[in-house]
Amino acid sequence: MTQRIALVTGASSGIGRATAQLLADRGYYVFAGARRMDRLEQIRSANIEPIELDVSDDHAIHRMVNHIISNRGRIDVLVNNAGFGQLGTIECVSMEAAHRQFEVNVFGYARFMQAVLPHMRKQKSGHIVNITSVMGRISTPGFGWYAASKHAVEALSDAVRGEVMDFGIEVVLIAPGLIKTEFVPKQLDLLRTVAHPLAYQKILKGLHILLANEPKSPGPAIIAQAVLDTVTKPNPPIRYALPLDSKASVIARWLLGARLFARAVRHQMKLNF
Ligand code: NDP
Repeated sequence: MTQRIALVTGASSGIGRATAQLLADRGYYVFAGARRMDRLEQIRSANIEPIELDVSDDHAIHRMVNHIISNRGRIDVLVNNAGFGQLGTIECVSMEAAHRQFEVNVFGYARFMQAVLPHMRKQKSGHIVNITSVMGRISTPGFGWYAASKHAVEALSDAVRGEVMDFGIEVVLIAPGLIKTEFVPKQLDLLRTVAHPLAYQKILKGLHILLANEPKSPGPAIIAQAVLDTVTKPNPPIRYALPLDSKASVIARWLLGARLFARAVRHQMKLNF
Protein backbone atom coordinates (compact mmCIF):
# COMPACT_ATOMS: atom_id res chain seq x y z
CA MET A 1 0.00 0.00 0.00
CA THR A 2 1.28 3.52 -0.79
CA GLN A 3 2.17 5.61 2.23
CA ARG A 4 -0.38 8.35 2.99
CA ILE A 5 0.89 11.92 2.81
CA ALA A 6 -0.06 14.67 5.27
CA LEU A 7 0.69 18.36 5.46
CA VAL A 8 0.40 19.99 8.90
CA THR A 9 0.75 23.75 9.40
CA GLY A 10 1.86 25.24 12.71
CA ALA A 11 3.72 22.06 13.60
CA SER A 12 6.43 23.67 15.73
CA SER A 13 4.34 23.54 18.91
CA GLY A 14 1.07 22.60 20.57
CA ILE A 15 -1.70 20.98 18.55
CA GLY A 16 0.20 20.98 15.24
CA ARG A 17 3.26 19.33 16.73
CA ALA A 18 1.21 16.67 18.54
CA THR A 19 -0.77 16.01 15.34
CA ALA A 20 2.34 15.72 13.15
CA GLN A 21 3.88 13.27 15.60
CA LEU A 22 0.73 11.14 15.96
CA LEU A 23 0.14 10.93 12.19
CA ALA A 24 3.80 9.99 11.69
CA ASP A 25 3.55 7.31 14.41
CA ARG A 26 0.57 5.87 12.53
CA GLY A 27 2.53 5.56 9.29
CA TYR A 28 1.78 8.84 7.52
CA TYR A 29 4.62 10.75 5.87
CA VAL A 30 4.18 14.24 7.30
CA PHE A 31 5.36 17.57 5.87
CA ALA A 32 5.49 19.79 8.95
CA GLY A 33 5.45 23.55 8.41
CA ALA A 34 6.08 26.55 10.69
CA ARG A 35 8.38 29.56 10.94
CA ARG A 36 10.65 28.32 13.76
CA MET A 37 12.88 25.76 12.06
CA ASP A 38 14.85 25.03 15.25
CA ARG A 39 11.61 23.82 16.86
CA LEU A 40 10.62 21.81 13.78
CA GLU A 41 14.02 20.12 13.64
CA GLN A 42 13.28 18.62 17.09
CA ILE A 43 10.56 16.43 15.52
CA ARG A 44 12.38 15.49 12.29
CA SER A 45 12.21 11.70 11.81
CA ALA A 46 11.91 9.06 9.10
CA ASN A 47 8.26 10.12 8.72
CA ILE A 48 8.44 13.86 9.47
CA GLU A 49 9.99 16.38 7.09
CA PRO A 50 10.18 19.94 8.46
CA ILE A 51 9.59 22.82 6.04
CA GLU A 52 10.02 26.50 6.81
CA LEU A 53 6.68 28.19 6.29
CA ASP A 54 4.94 31.47 6.94
CA VAL A 55 1.26 30.99 6.09
CA SER A 56 0.95 34.65 5.15
CA ASP A 57 3.48 34.14 2.34
CA ASP A 58 1.88 32.90 -0.93
CA HIS A 59 5.24 31.86 -2.39
CA ALA A 60 6.17 29.78 0.67
CA ILE A 61 2.85 27.92 0.44
CA HIS A 62 3.21 27.15 -3.27
CA ARG A 63 6.84 26.12 -2.75
CA MET A 64 5.76 23.69 -0.03
CA VAL A 65 2.88 22.17 -2.02
CA ASN A 66 5.00 21.89 -5.19
CA HIS A 67 7.76 20.21 -3.17
CA ILE A 68 5.28 17.66 -1.80
CA ILE A 69 3.78 16.91 -5.22
CA SER A 70 7.15 16.60 -6.97
CA ASN A 71 8.56 14.32 -4.24
CA ARG A 72 5.52 12.27 -3.22
CA GLY A 73 3.00 12.83 -6.04
CA ARG A 74 -0.02 13.34 -3.79
CA ILE A 75 -1.48 14.97 -0.67
CA ASP A 76 -3.98 12.92 1.31
CA VAL A 77 -4.45 15.14 4.36
CA LEU A 78 -4.18 18.88 4.92
CA VAL A 79 -4.33 20.00 8.55
CA ASN A 80 -4.82 23.76 8.61
CA ASN A 81 -3.77 24.61 12.14
CA ALA A 82 -1.27 27.52 12.23
CA GLY A 83 -2.80 30.39 14.10
CA PHE A 84 -2.76 32.76 17.03
CA GLY A 85 -5.21 34.70 19.14
CA GLN A 86 -5.29 38.48 19.02
CA LEU A 87 -6.88 39.47 22.30
CA GLY A 88 -8.11 42.97 23.05
CA THR A 89 -11.26 45.03 22.70
CA ILE A 90 -12.72 45.86 19.30
CA GLU A 91 -12.06 49.55 19.98
CA CYS A 92 -8.41 49.22 20.89
CA VAL A 93 -6.90 46.47 18.70
CA SER A 94 -5.29 48.34 15.81
CA MET A 95 -6.53 47.68 12.28
CA GLU A 96 -3.02 46.50 11.46
CA ALA A 97 -3.23 43.84 14.18
CA ALA A 98 -6.75 42.90 13.05
CA HIS A 99 -5.53 42.46 9.46
CA ARG A 100 -2.66 40.29 10.70
CA GLN A 101 -5.16 38.12 12.61
CA PHE A 102 -7.14 37.47 9.42
CA GLU A 103 -4.01 37.14 7.27
CA VAL A 104 -2.82 34.15 9.32
CA ASN A 105 -5.99 32.56 10.74
CA VAL A 106 -8.28 33.00 7.70
CA PHE A 107 -6.28 33.70 4.53
CA GLY A 108 -3.55 31.27 5.66
CA TYR A 109 -6.15 28.48 5.74
CA ALA A 110 -7.76 29.65 2.47
CA ARG A 111 -4.42 29.81 0.66
CA PHE A 112 -3.65 26.22 1.62
CA MET A 113 -7.09 25.00 0.57
CA GLN A 114 -6.63 26.68 -2.82
CA ALA A 115 -3.17 25.18 -3.20
CA VAL A 116 -4.07 21.55 -2.37
CA LEU A 117 -7.54 21.26 -3.90
CA PRO A 118 -6.42 20.89 -7.54
CA HIS A 119 -4.28 17.90 -6.49
CA MET A 120 -6.97 16.35 -4.30
CA ARG A 121 -9.53 16.78 -7.12
CA LYS A 122 -7.17 15.05 -9.54
CA GLN A 123 -6.56 12.13 -7.16
CA LYS A 124 -10.34 12.08 -6.32
CA SER A 125 -9.69 11.88 -2.59
CA GLY A 126 -8.44 13.88 0.36
CA HIS A 127 -9.19 15.22 3.81
CA ILE A 128 -9.03 18.87 4.77
CA VAL A 129 -9.06 19.34 8.53
CA ASN A 130 -9.49 22.95 9.60
CA ILE A 131 -8.71 23.64 13.25
CA THR A 132 -11.20 26.24 14.37
CA SER A 133 -12.20 26.99 17.98
CA VAL A 134 -15.10 27.18 20.37
CA MET A 135 -14.84 30.85 19.33
CA GLY A 136 -15.89 29.78 15.82
CA ARG A 137 -19.47 29.61 17.09
CA ILE A 138 -19.54 32.04 20.03
CA SER A 139 -17.93 35.41 20.72
CA THR A 140 -17.11 37.03 24.05
CA PRO A 141 -15.66 40.35 25.25
CA GLY A 142 -11.96 40.74 24.42
CA PHE A 143 -11.99 37.84 21.92
CA GLY A 144 -13.78 39.67 19.11
CA TRP A 145 -11.08 39.74 16.42
CA TYR A 146 -10.01 36.17 17.11
CA ALA A 147 -13.62 34.94 17.20
CA ALA A 148 -14.34 36.77 13.92
CA SER A 149 -11.39 34.98 12.29
CA LYS A 150 -12.61 31.58 13.49
CA HIS A 151 -16.22 32.31 12.45
CA ALA A 152 -14.80 33.05 8.99
CA VAL A 153 -12.95 29.71 8.98
CA GLU A 154 -16.22 27.93 9.82
CA ALA A 155 -18.07 29.74 7.01
CA LEU A 156 -15.37 28.94 4.44
CA SER A 157 -15.26 25.31 5.57
CA ASP A 158 -19.04 24.84 5.37
CA ALA A 159 -19.02 26.31 1.84
CA VAL A 160 -16.09 24.34 0.48
CA ARG A 161 -17.41 21.08 1.98
CA GLY A 162 -20.42 21.24 -0.35
CA GLU A 163 -18.27 22.31 -3.31
CA VAL A 164 -15.85 19.37 -3.18
CA MET A 165 -18.01 16.54 -1.83
CA ASP A 166 -18.48 15.07 -5.33
CA PHE A 167 -14.69 14.82 -5.76
CA GLY A 168 -14.23 12.42 -2.82
CA ILE A 169 -12.84 15.17 -0.59
CA GLU A 170 -13.97 15.53 3.05
CA VAL A 171 -13.78 18.86 4.89
CA VAL A 172 -13.88 18.61 8.67
CA LEU A 173 -13.79 21.24 11.41
CA ILE A 174 -12.21 20.52 14.77
CA ALA A 175 -13.18 23.04 17.43
CA PRO A 176 -10.97 22.91 20.52
CA GLY A 177 -11.92 24.51 23.80
CA LEU A 178 -9.14 25.56 26.13
CA ILE A 179 -6.01 23.45 25.48
CA LYS A 180 -2.66 23.79 27.23
CA THR A 181 -0.14 24.86 24.56
CA GLU A 182 1.85 28.03 23.85
CA PHE A 183 -1.39 29.62 22.63
CA VAL A 184 -2.68 31.32 25.83
CA PRO A 185 0.72 32.68 26.97
CA LYS A 186 1.15 34.17 23.46
CA GLN A 187 -2.39 35.60 23.61
CA LEU A 188 -1.59 37.32 26.90
CA ASP A 189 1.70 38.67 25.45
CA LEU A 190 -0.25 40.13 22.53
CA LEU A 191 -2.86 41.60 24.85
CA ARG A 192 -0.10 43.52 26.62
CA THR A 193 0.79 45.19 23.30
CA VAL A 194 -2.70 46.73 22.98
CA ALA A 195 -3.15 50.12 24.66
CA HIS A 196 -6.42 50.13 26.61
CA PRO A 197 -7.74 53.16 28.50
CA LEU A 198 -8.59 52.71 32.19
CA ALA A 199 -12.26 52.32 31.32
CA TYR A 200 -11.49 48.81 29.99
CA GLN A 201 -9.52 47.58 33.02
CA LYS A 202 -12.46 45.43 34.24
CA ILE A 203 -12.63 43.71 30.84
CA LEU A 204 -8.90 43.00 30.96
CA LYS A 205 -9.22 41.52 34.46
CA GLY A 206 -12.17 39.45 33.24
CA LEU A 207 -10.10 38.07 30.37
CA HIS A 208 -7.46 36.92 32.82
CA ILE A 209 -10.20 35.25 34.90
CA LEU A 210 -11.52 33.40 31.81
CA LEU A 211 -8.05 32.19 30.89
CA ALA A 212 -7.00 31.29 34.44
CA ASN A 213 -8.13 27.68 33.91
CA GLU A 214 -5.62 27.13 31.11
CA PRO A 215 -2.96 25.42 33.29
CA LYS A 216 -5.59 22.83 34.31
CA SER A 217 -6.86 22.23 30.77
CA PRO A 218 -5.97 19.13 28.73
CA GLY A 219 -2.89 19.00 26.52
CA PRO A 220 -2.91 18.88 22.70
CA ALA A 221 -2.94 15.05 22.48
CA ILE A 222 -6.76 14.92 22.56
CA ILE A 223 -6.97 17.20 19.51
CA ALA A 224 -4.28 15.21 17.67
CA GLN A 225 -6.32 12.06 18.34
CA ALA A 226 -9.45 13.78 16.97
CA VAL A 227 -7.55 14.66 13.78
CA LEU A 228 -6.39 11.05 13.42
CA ASP A 229 -9.94 9.79 13.96
CA THR A 230 -11.41 12.13 11.36
CA VAL A 231 -8.93 11.06 8.69
CA THR A 232 -9.05 7.33 9.40
CA LYS A 233 -12.69 6.61 10.35
CA PRO A 234 -15.51 6.47 7.80
CA ASN A 235 -18.13 9.25 8.00
CA PRO A 236 -16.33 11.49 10.50
CA PRO A 237 -18.38 14.19 12.26
CA ILE A 238 -18.18 17.37 10.19
CA ARG A 239 -17.63 19.49 13.31
CA TYR A 240 -15.86 17.89 16.20
CA ALA A 241 -15.96 20.01 19.39
CA LEU A 242 -13.80 18.98 22.33
CA PRO A 243 -13.12 18.90 25.24
CA LEU A 244 -16.54 19.23 26.86
CA ASP A 245 -16.28 23.01 27.49
CA SER A 246 -16.19 23.59 23.74
CA LYS A 247 -19.44 21.71 23.09
CA ALA A 248 -21.11 23.03 26.27
CA SER A 249 -20.44 26.70 25.46
CA VAL A 250 -22.02 26.44 22.02
CA ILE A 251 -25.06 24.61 23.44
CA ALA A 252 -25.36 27.23 26.21
CA ARG A 253 -25.29 30.04 23.63
CA TRP A 254 -28.02 28.30 21.64
CA LEU A 255 -30.20 27.59 24.70
CA LEU A 256 -29.78 30.97 26.37
CA GLY A 257 -29.96 33.22 23.32
CA ALA A 258 -27.66 36.19 22.73
CA ARG A 259 -28.67 38.44 25.62
CA LEU A 260 -28.71 35.88 28.43
CA PHE A 261 -25.51 34.27 27.14
CA ALA A 262 -23.76 37.67 27.14
CA ARG A 263 -24.91 38.15 30.75
CA ALA A 264 -23.64 34.70 31.73
CA VAL A 265 -20.23 35.43 30.19
CA ARG A 266 -20.05 38.82 31.92
CA HIS A 267 -20.89 37.03 35.18
CA GLN A 268 -18.05 34.54 34.58
CA MET A 269 -15.70 37.45 33.89
CA LYS A 270 -16.92 39.05 37.16
CA LEU A 271 -18.00 42.16 35.25
CA ASN A 272 -21.29 42.50 37.07
CA PHE A 273 -19.76 42.97 40.49
P1 NDP B 1 0.59 27.23 19.64
O1 NDP B 1 0.87 28.67 19.85
O2 NDP B 1 1.20 26.25 20.56
O3 NDP B 1 0.94 26.83 18.14
C1 NDP B 1 0.63 27.66 17.06
C2 NDP B 1 1.41 27.20 15.86
O4 NDP B 1 1.10 28.06 14.75
C3 NDP B 1 2.91 27.27 16.07
O5 NDP B 1 3.50 26.11 15.54
C4 NDP B 1 3.33 28.49 15.26
O6 NDP B 1 4.63 28.27 14.72
C5 NDP B 1 2.30 28.46 14.13
N1 NDP B 1 2.14 29.75 13.47
C6 NDP B 1 1.70 30.90 13.98
N2 NDP B 1 1.75 31.87 13.04
C7 NDP B 1 2.24 31.29 11.92
C8 NDP B 1 2.52 31.76 10.61
N3 NDP B 1 2.33 33.03 10.25
N4 NDP B 1 3.02 30.89 9.69
C9 NDP B 1 3.23 29.60 10.03
N5 NDP B 1 2.99 29.10 11.25
C10 NDP B 1 2.50 29.94 12.19
O7 NDP B 1 -1.02 27.12 19.68
P2 NDP B 1 -2.01 25.89 19.52
O8 NDP B 1 -1.29 24.67 19.15
O9 NDP B 1 -2.88 25.88 20.70
O10 NDP B 1 -2.88 26.43 18.30
C11 NDP B 1 -3.11 25.71 17.12
C12 NDP B 1 -4.49 26.05 16.58
O11 NDP B 1 -5.49 25.69 17.54
C13 NDP B 1 -4.70 27.54 16.27
O12 NDP B 1 -5.38 27.66 15.03
C14 NDP B 1 -5.61 28.00 17.41
O13 NDP B 1 -6.43 29.07 17.04
C15 NDP B 1 -6.41 26.74 17.70
N6 NDP B 1 -7.00 26.70 19.03
C16 NDP B 1 -6.23 26.61 20.17
C17 NDP B 1 -6.82 26.60 21.42
C18 NDP B 1 -6.03 26.50 22.70
O14 NDP B 1 -6.63 26.72 23.80
N7 NDP B 1 -4.76 26.18 22.65
C19 NDP B 1 -8.28 26.71 21.56
C20 NDP B 1 -8.99 26.78 20.32
C21 NDP B 1 -8.37 26.77 19.11
P3 NDP B 1 5.77 29.37 14.48
O15 NDP B 1 5.60 30.44 15.50
O16 NDP B 1 7.04 28.57 14.61
O17 NDP B 1 5.54 29.81 13.06
